Amino acid sequence: MEKVRKYESRKIEVCRNCGGEGMVNPKLEGNWLMRHIQAAGGPVACEVCGGTGRVRKHTEITVTVRSFDSPLPPSKGGRG
Ligand SMILES: [Zn+2]
Repeated sequence: MEKVRKYESRKIEVCRNCGGEGMVNPKLEGNWLMRHIQAAGGPVACEVCGGTGRVRKHTEITVTVRSFDSPLPPSKGGRG
């Protein structure tokens, strides 16, 4: 006996790499806020969001439930 459930969601979120600004300065350290404040010397378009400040997020979760005495399926990558 096995039950499989799939969850899927698509969202549009603020880019975390640039904090929604669309521009980052890769030479500077720190979080997006520090980079934004210090970015006097030529910020570049964020490579994650392409300068839009927004990203599309696609999440897929598969939940498989099976009886305790059944063998475990082979794990696919990750932490194995
Ligand atoms: Zn970005």
